[in-house]
Amino acid sequence: MFKEMLAEEGIKCLVKNDRLSAGIGEIPFVECFPELWVIDDEVYPRARLLLDAWLARGTGENAEPWTCSHCGEQSTQQFTACWKCSQSRE
Ligand SMILES: [Zn+2]
Repeated sequence: MFKEMLAEEGIKCLVKNDRLSAGIGEIPFVECFPELWVIDDEVYPRARLLLDAWLARGTGENAEPWTCSHCGEQSTQQFTACWKCSQSRE
């Protein structure tokens, strides 16, 4: 869904691992979870902002981002660990 939404914004993406989801249960979940890759690094910050906005819109009033205590990166509420360095939210 996000891949198509980004494409409408002119941002090319590809989804990795989407064919591996049948393997869940046999390989560690994080290794077969679908990943959305932005092809052009230069548009990544914009893609990130768009995604954050779309994700925040879906979570309603709890949309305030939280700041990682390890690297200072902001993550949206639905992440329980930093999207950048995987530090736990606590
Ligand atoms: Zn972090």
